[in-house]
Amino acid sequence: MSEETIFTKIIKGEIPSKQVYHDDLVTAFEDINPKAKHHILIVTNKPIPTVSDVEQEDEQLMGHLFIVARKIAEQLGVAKSGYRLIVNCGKDGCQEVPHIHMHFLAGGNLGLGGFPENK
Ligand code: AMP
Repeated sequence: MSEETIFTKIIKGEIPSKQVYHDDLVTAFEDINPKAKHHILIVTNKPIPTVSDVEQEDEQLMGHLFIVARKIAEQLGVAKSGYRLIVNCGKDGCQEVPHIHMHFLAGGNLGLGGFPENK
């Protein structure tokens, strides 16, 4: 079993967060250090450390991250105007929290590639 992460504590409600979505598989909440007008983290309830640890049995869970991203885009009214999804992996990917999460960024033109410079 993986070590408990800060995201596990958020999912359990032990650390406060601005939650925007929750179901049996994933929890989504606002990033504490937003890089865009809307910056949400979509986190797997199962504490898988990185994409490199994903197993075949996680296939549906990984697909579900995209389904929830689509729902959040609809909630925020950016489904048509657009948004960016980012998954950092490991040291060189600058992943800070070893618990799989998808960054959802939206709100105005985000520029080319990566995280926008300014929110
Ligand atoms: P990553 O570098 O892909 O692992 O991203 C981790 C993200 O988690 C960063 O964007 C942080 O700002 C965010 N973060 C860290 N702690 C918290 C927290 N307590 N609540 C919300 N977001 C957090």
